[in-house]
Amino acid sequence: MANKDRLKVLFVSVEVAPFAKTGGLADVAGSLPKSLVSMGHDVRIAMPKFQQIKTDMKYVTDFPVTLNNRKETCIVREGEIAFKYNNENLSVPVYFLDNYHLYDREGIYCYYDDAERFAFLCKAALDMLPKIEFQPDIIHCNDWHTGPICMLLNEKYKQYPFYRNTKSIFTIHNLEYQGHFPKEVLWLFDVGEEVFTPEKVEFYGRFNFMKAGLVYADIINTVSETYAKEIKTPQYGEMLEGVLIKRSKDLYGIVNGIDYDVFNPSEDPRIVKNYDVNSIELKKENKYALQKEMGLPVKDVPVIGLISRLSSQKGLNLIMDEIDEIMKNDIQFVLLGQGDEYYETGFRKIQEKYPKKMGVYIGFNAPLAQRIYAGSDLFLMPSRFEPCGLGQLFSLRYGTIPIVRATGGLAETVFDVEKYGEKGNGFTYTEFSSKEMLNTINRALKFYNTKPEEWKKLVRRAMSIDNSWDRSARKYLELYRKLVGIK
Ligand code: ADP
Repeated sequence: MANKDRLKVLFVSVEVAPFAKTGGLADVAGSLPKSLVSMGHDVRIAMPKFQQIKTDMKYVTDFPVTLNNRKETCIVREGEIAFKYNNENLSVPVYFLDNYHLYDREGIYCYYDDAERFAFLCKAALDMLPKIEFQPDIIHCNDWHTGPICMLLNEKYKQYPFYRNTKSIFTIHNLEYQGHFPKEVLWLFDVGEEVFTPEKVEFYGRFNFMKAGLVYADIINTVSETYAKEIKTPQYGEMLEGVLIKRSKDLYGIVNGIDYDVFNPSEDPRIVKNYDVNSIELKKENKYALQKEMGLPVKDVPVIGLISRLSSQKGLNLIMDEIDEIMKNDIQFVLLGQGDEYYETGFRKIQEKYPKKMGVYIGFNAPLAQRIYAGSDLFLMPSRFEPCGLGQLFSLRYGTIPIVRATGGLAETVFDVEKYGEKGNGFTYTEFSSKEMLNTINRALKFYNTKPEEWKKLVRRAMSIDNSWDRSARKYLELYRKLVGIK
């Protein structure tokens, strides 16, 4: 590729798989840069060095970052995501921004000083660049933690020649989490009071990190076209729909892909029996192993899987409402998740009530997630909203048929087989109601039980769909090119 076409991008994210993950953001941040690097671009990642990150890394530099009147040191260490592409060894450089006080903790989020922790990330990511002599064309920011980077670039850094031509793109992975804090947070960023207005970062008297991204980014995008439309309405806009409507012409939607190398049922070392589209009968062995692992009777019944953050976004209360009806079927249900105590306790109770039909694992367990994707027959996502959703993409790849509420990215990636015939790959419904969910589960079970040959075809079709990053990464490149003015 000619040098002038080779884009330089700094990708900033708090979660990056395989280093730190609570949800889909990590999957995207760990795989989209790989895809862009394999297309010949210079894409590097910056993220906090959390305690749980144990990968090989080497010291690069250190410098002070001011937070109010206090100075904190940022130590930059470099690691990588190494991968093979067409037999070539490639890698995405990862800059781990290390600060003992702020990041050497067990978890990723939900500390009393999150505003400081992520203000540090924003400032350190920008300050690092001249020191490591990397002058990106684009800084790609992800979710609320990185929103103020867009503000800082425009309000402060662009006065320095080094940053003058750097553009920003802000990706919304979930609009619900916005990071709003008391006004005083403004002083962490050394910007003037004039940015604290409703047109800029002020949000009902508070400083809103997400809004800083939405107002100041050169381009905004979110992780499906449907969610890009939905968030301009009061139902999905999380009180920021006004800002998004105002920025409509700069707001895009690109559906996520998944990493087809890491998530490949024919090679995945985490599952019990590898299989592919020509050997789907082997998938059963994963089901039996999963039943055993979850303490359920090993037998030939349809298994419904669910893997999720346990939050109100995910429509889990609908399952709790209808669990007795769902369990009237001859099925097993396997749930892996962690989050709100209300749901953790609720599902544990359901397990106690149905010990032979319900398997519950509360916690975060990535290898078990793979065994559920591989071992289940159906995968349930009754989400209230879903910006993109990756669970349905993983389950399709593993021949596990999704049952979803058609919202956000789910509406773009799952098509009801009873409506779309040969184009169908799952079961969908539209209204956010427990009755519709129940009817759809029952419809799927009937299909499974009464049409075994068609079910096999459906499984093969699901596994053959291409939801890899290729297409979506090209769309990101189009956006990047638009930003830097290359046709
Ligand atoms: P969200 O980003 O809203 O959490 P997504 O469907 O986009 O939802 O992505 C969720 C990702 O997190 C998937 O990779 C899923 O497998 C994973 N995941 C969620 N909960 C767990 C858990 N408890 N253990 C392991 N993986 C999980």
